[in-house]
Amino acid sequence: MKIFVVNAGSSSLKYQLIDMENESVLAKGLCERIGVTGAISHKAADGREYKAETPMPTHSEAFEAVVYALMKSDAKVIDSFDEISAIGHRIVQGGAVFKGSCLVNDKVIEQISELGAMAPLHNPAHVIAIKACIKTFGEKIPQVVVFDTSFHQTMPPKAYMYALPYEYYERLDVRKYGAHGTSHHFVSDRVAVLENKDKKDLKIITCHLGNGCSITAIKDGVCVDTSMGFTPLDGFMMGTRSGSLDPSALTYIAEKDNLSAADINTICNKKSGMLGVSGVSNDNRDVAAAAEAGNERARLAIDMQRYQILKFIGSYIAAMNGVDAIAFTGGIGENDPELRKYVCENLKYMGVKIDIDANKCRGKEIKISTDDSLVDVFVIPTNEELAIARDTLRIISE
Ligand code: AMP
Repeated sequence: MKIFVVNAGSSSLKYQLIDMENESVLAKGLCERIGVTGAISHKAADGREYKAETPMPTHSEAFEAVVYALMKSDAKVIDSFDEISAIGHRIVQGGAVFKGSCLVNDKVIEQISELGAMAPLHNPAHVIAIKACIKTFGEKIPQVVVFDTSFHQTMPPKAYMYALPYEYYERLDVRKYGAHGTSHHFVSDRVAVLENKDKKDLKIITCHLGNGCSITAIKDGVCVDTSMGFTPLDGFMMGTRSGSLDPSALTYIAEKDNLSAADINTICNKKSGMLGVSGVSNDNRDVAAAAEAGNERARLAIDMQRYQILKFIGSYIAAMNGVDAIAFTGGIGENDPELRKYVCENLKYMGVKIDIDANKCRGKEIKISTDDSLVDVFVIPTNEELAIARDTLRIISE
């Protein structure tokens, strides 16, 4: 059984075709510059590649290029649509409407579109992509939507409410929704497997540290709190995002510099975080290299990032009254031994002991705490596409 996984943005479309018999990737690729020019790069599991520049005025032409790559190109991996059992779409914002993944129908498309106000960069693009996908692949292949937010729908009100006048929650749905749910779900499932325990019996903290970052607390098998909020701007500093700060700082800056709400949004989302503080880059490798070379602002950015991550982990240990396992994932979490060492050494007071040699690893699944550590610490590479494919399979099987 083969599942086609789609992760669509407004001008890009990432995809994977996964064979669910052994959960292997048969082919993956990326369409870029949709609506501008158009290009596809596609790679089959055996290394064959297909690359082409082809006009993609809309997502429909992008899907047609994908179909050509999958079925007709020199890197083809299937002969016909009939081999694809279902299509799974990653959706960024499911609000409070979608508590889990579901089959696509007209009502679902409309609801995802309505939630676009809370994810203007993502949901409208998802809707366009779903419609184009149905047009290209036909109605016979079931399509499933998997939401970044649904894993966080188990948070209790005390965790997801903001202390604003209640009417903003009632009238405008303003509350914490979280993000990266598919990744936190996947990684926490892996923790339970590695611990050889039922997830319900574990208190887990998953740290998804990439260009976007979030930390989640998982207790009794479900998410009880997460660092991202109403939008993926909340939490701690990221590549270009500020994370949480005093809202008055923003109203003060807006008044002083005569900036609009949209200007403030751009500053906080695109010009802040590692980039804003260091002035060097949004990429952790560049900032770390600059810090190493003596750049003080880069050093400050690295110090702030580590300190903020540590504080979030500490707060979730308090929220869950303990922790059994901590897992690091994402480009930074999987590849930055120094950050992991900093976190573990600052949790020494509660019995965390890091295995210095194991922690040297990059990008592979491994336990990095010692056998006598009171808390197990893991590096677990995330696989959001596989998580989407698994959920898609589950929904069509139901
Ligand atoms: P992601 O969004 O998950 O792809 O993660 C991107 C972030 O991971 C960037 O800030 C990269 O600098 C960081 N990253 C990727 N590889 C490494 C590495 N080998 N060492 C440190 N950071 C890395």
